[in-house]
Amino acid sequence: TSGRNAVRFFDPAMQAVLVVKMMLESNLRVALALEQFQLYYQIQVDADGNVIGAEALLRWIHPDRGFISPLEFIPVAEQTGLIIPIGTWVLETACNQLKKWGRNPKTAHLSLAVNVSAKQFQQSNFVETVTEIVRLHNINPTRLKIELTESTILDNVDATTEKMQQLKKLGIAFSMDDFGTGYSSLAYLQKLPLNQLKIDQSFVRDLNDDENDATIVRAIISLGLNLGLDVIAEGVETVAQRRFLIDHNCLTFQGYLYSKPIPIEGLDALLAGDSSD
Ligand code: C2E
Ligand code: CA
Ligand code: CA
Ligand code: CA
Repeated sequence: TSGRNAVRFFDPAMQAVLVVKMMLESNLRVALALEQFQLYYQIQVDADGNVIGAEALLRWIHPDRGFISPLEFIPVAEQTGLIIPIGTWVLETACNQLKKWGRNPKTAHLSLAVNVSAKQFQQSNFVETVTEIVRLHNINPTRLKIELTESTILDNVDATTEKMQQLKKLGIAFSMDDFGTGYSSLAYLQKLPLNQLKIDQSFVRDLNDDENDATIVRAIISLGLNLGLDVIAEGVETVAQRRFLIDHNCLTFQGYLYSKPIPIEGLDALLAGDSSD
């Protein structure tokens, strides 16, 4: 009966979780209003060590708690719908950065990848929002890359593919994030307007010690290359990992071996000191 359900619903442990979630939600609203969010940037590098772009990673700098990981607050932002305004802020900030890079011949070639969550991508006006932001900032849309996960795409393949196609027409690129951790079928993969597969860091971590991981990584690379996609590996921390990846034709990397995600000032300094040209 409903009585029994009610008792179960007001389980104190569950209520505590709920309260924490509600506090986090109201704090997230404040964070947005008070501009406590910041984008950090992690460079992406080719086999010669040239910086070809970066991934924008969201940081919440709380006045009392300090850094709060996106792994902690993105799920709550998704559940409460706050991911929509937060995600729009991320896109605007990223495009503003691309605009700055575009003005300087030394940085005009750089691409910037942003993570877009399922709920954000599935908004009916997502294509219009992105189109508007790209136009307002007057950026070259081919420098903007959207990272989607397999689950975002597979949630509603037809609608997602349609949106991806519209954005691709605009020039925007797509990378499939965390590749290998989801359930993509090869049939989908070939139909999606993707530019890049991103090998998940969980496969990269033990690449040199774990034969299964090595096999998976080799398979992902050849799959991607055979479909005409770029393949990038994330979580590259060691020279041995890079060696393996290069030997198997994955020629783009992201990871602590090159740089952690850093604030824009750090990135600008890094780019200014980059003598790769
Ligand atoms: P992700 O998109 O898979 O991002 C890669 C994560 O790996 C980042 O964690 C990055 O800091 C970390 N990482 C990079 N290189 C290395 C490495 O060499 N070793 C190790 N151990 N880790 C490395 P971060 O910044 O904490 O972000 C976590 C997740 O939060 C992201 O995973 C992404 O799913 C989500 N996220 C971050 N920013 C945004 C955003 O603006 N919007 C949305 N929707 N999600 C975001
Ligand atoms: Ca990502
Ligand atoms: Ca990932
Ligand atoms: Ca991830």
